[in-house]
Amino acid sequence: MNISNIVLHRLSVPLPRAVRTSIHNHTHADTVVVEMRAGDHVGVGYCFAFGAHRARALAALTEDLTPFYQGKPVSAVSANFEAAWRSINFVGHTGAVMMALSALDTACWDLAARAAGLPLFRYLGGACARVPTYASEGLWVDYSVDELLKEASAFRAKGHRAMKMRIGGREPADDLERVRLLREAIGPDVKLLADVNQGWDEPTAIRVGRRLQAHDLYWIEEPLPYEDLEGCARVAAALDMRVASGETEYGSLAMKRHLDLRVADVLMPDLQRMGGITEYRRAAELCRAYHQPVSSHLFMEASAHVLAAAPNGLILEHMDWWQPLFTEALRLEEGCVVLSENPGIGLDLDRKALDRFKA
Ligand SMILES: [Mg+2]
Repeated sequence: MNISNIVLHRLSVPLPRAVRTSIHNHTHADTVVVEMRAGDHVGVGYCFAFGAHRARALAALTEDLTPFYQGKPVSAVSANFEAAWRSINFVGHTGAVMMALSALDTACWDLAARAAGLPLFRYLGGACARVPTYASEGLWVDYSVDELLKEASAFRAKGHRAMKMRIGGREPADDLERVRLLREAIGPDVKLLADVNQGWDEPTAIRVGRRLQAHDLYWIEEPLPYEDLEGCARVAAALDMRVASGETEYGSLAMKRHLDLRVADVLMPDLQRMGGITEYRRAAELCRAYHQPVSSHLFMEASAHVLAAAPNGLILEHMDWWQPLFTEALRLEEGCVVLSENPGIGLDLDRKALDRFKA
């Protein structure tokens, strides 16, 4: 069976609430959706940027790579990826072109699993449909303490047993107090993660990180600017709690550099910066070879399947920004995403949403 048709949709997806972290302030996710068809099957992938002009550039790059998929065998997922990968050598295996490739590669894996009649996690060799997850769609730095506590209890009511707050955009004393109050409110049984979004320098990360450990954080994320690998490794060595990082880097070989330097205790490869499922799986395998767990960043619809199939999958970032694009939500039960037995990613695009969010 060959890929018969590839359609791109440029969308402006409104975020449920403006994203405020130590480095972000956004209201929309400017998204490029790929629909890849073969027979009656449709595979789905997407990439995004903050900013309509940048999303237009992503759409142009995605369009440019479609000849590596159009008319090619659905089952040749890796070979199709490899040809596209070789073709981008000059522009580089990094940046926007990797995001474009990711949307196509992910759509192709989804399509191949659908054509095989299997949910993607089973197509990838997995057996368990449950993936531990944490709520990531909130607890922003601009919240009042009341808003933090209210959202934390809403997350619990939805079935979450782990959640991530953002810190690093305020005075450390303020962050420490907010973490203390949130931990006190949610109790000892809920996992609490904190994302600094690269907002600290090394001495701050070590000093404040040591004090945060009293509040039993599951992990602290991106304490330093993402490119300071050696600094982050020193922070990870100085702290007893897990340090997570890796979401801002491109391709599985960047993950290998992180692993070689012991930059963090948990890597969280970003599906679109990896270049799609092909490279995300390689990143997960590399983590396994280095005896480290692997997590995810955004793109939960596809990432959940990769983590479900990875023996070292730790926890999935639950980020519902693109949920309105699909006809149903991912099922959440007792702190786990429970994957559907429908073929592929198990979710279908909502045609009305594609019209509603058209850019
Ligand atoms: Mg993060």
